[in-house]
Amino acid sequence: MKAIVDRDACISCGLCESVCPEVFELDDEDISTVIQDPIDSENEDCARESEDSCPTNAIHIEE
Ligand code: SF4
Repeated sequence: MKAIVDRDACISCGLCESVCPEVFELDDEDISTVIQDPIDSENEDCARESEDSCPTNAIHIEE
């Protein structure tokens, strides 16, 4: 599984980093970036939760 962040859609709310900090991190522009690729199995649930919870649907998960 891997995560993709649409940088243009991210509004820097920080939710994904809070929910799944081993996969998502806000970079020095305060845009979410993927820091674990591929996603470890123990982080798959929180990555999906981030995808579902992102207010702008900026996160996309590929199986
Ligand atoms: S939850 Fe969505 S909008 Fe918020 S920081 Fe993460 S990618 Fe950006």
